[in-house]
Amino acid sequence: MNRLEQILAYCEKTAFDLHFTDAKKWKAASADRVLVGYLPIYFPREVVHAAHGLAVGIMGSGDRKQIIKGDAYYQSYICHLPRGVIEMGLDDNLQDFDGFVFPAICDCVRNLSGMFRITGNGKFSRYFDYPQNFQKHIGGDFYREEILKILDDVKQVNGVKPDKAALNKSIGLYNANRRLIERIYDIRQEYPWRLSAVETYHIIRAGLAITVEEHNSLLEEVVSIIENNERGEPMDNIRVVVTGSFCEQPPIGLIKSVEMAGCYIVDDDFMLGARWIQGDVDDTTDSPIDALVTAYLNQSTFSSAVYDVGNPKGKRLVELARQRKADGIIFSAASFCDPALLDRPEMQKECDAAGIPHINFQFHENTGQFKVIKEQAGTFSDSIKLWA
Ligand code: SF4
Repeated sequence: MNRLEQILAYCEKTAFDLHFTDAKKWKAASADRVLVGYLPIYFPREVVHAAHGLAVGIMGSGDRKQIIKGDAYYQSYICHLPRGVIEMGLDDNLQDFDGFVFPAICDCVRNLSGMFRITGNGKFSRYFDYPQNFQKHIGGDFYREEILKILDDVKQVNGVKPDKAALNKSIGLYNANRRLIERIYDIRQEYPWRLSAVETYHIIRAGLAITVEEHNSLLEEVVSIIENNERGEPMDNIRVVVTGSFCEQPPIGLIKSVEMAGCYIVDDDFMLGARWIQGDVDDTTDSPIDALVTAYLNQSTFSSAVYDVGNPKGKRLVELARQRKADGIIFSAASFCDPALLDRPEMQKECDAAGIPHINFQFHENTGQFKVIKEQAGTFSDSIKLWA
């Protein structure tokens, strides 16, 4: 097995380890370390890192866990992710986690934060709200308070209050992380056959469950390998951007089916939180928390989680498709995902106006049948190749 294959095997295993073995092992090595689980989409992991913590992304249970108790906590007509997460909380998957953060995205996640309090998971359960006002003295001040609450939560557990230097160091590490991930996307834009979308997914998702230092070192190796070596063979595929899968994650079989149907996925929002801030956060200031706030206000990517009047997400999706030289867009949302499905018509209108072909489908994280999706994606690919 060559080095890239070793990294890919490790990342696949780690990405879907619902017991978060590596993260728990990391915590066990020192008494002041804390584990903080967070749900999709974005969370400023830097602050937890600076306070001797590891923020671990809990992206759902996928098709790897049978939901028994979770169904009793939610009505049947919502998406699958919260049910899987509560099941994990009621089983032993999240033991050893010190606290949980539930970033504001929808009512399902809001309710989940309350359920975690009832079930007694962790020492804290924090609903983490984001500003929908982007003026520094209004939304910015609000967001600053939200971040300080997290620092306080962690301090209650381990007594650590990070200083300026620690925060700047953590910000620098996550800047490097985002730069490396973007580099992988940029290389894939030129040579999508060198690393498949599924492999890319595994690499990025694994980074949500290990330290940023370790992830950066893996990413550096991957970048160096795919930047300098040919791998795979160019195919007569179309290039697509997949959007709408920012929270509940599509099953790997779905990503694979889209690829096998003749589509190179040249951009996506699968692990959007890891790519949320566009560009670097200032890691040289006397006010690192303010730097994180400013980055959120001014450098956030587009998302259904953000009120975006003045900077509409449909237009930004079209810009992304053009930047990636995509032939089409696939709207792929979790069934019953209100934020994604409510935004879809407006975004589709923008695609129509820009002349970008698009298709859409829905999934559950535990969907097991992909024949229809593969046929749909295959027909989309053929129609673009024949008539676009
Ligand atoms: S998949 Fe959509 S509806 Fe479900 S928890 Fe996430 S954002 Fe909310």
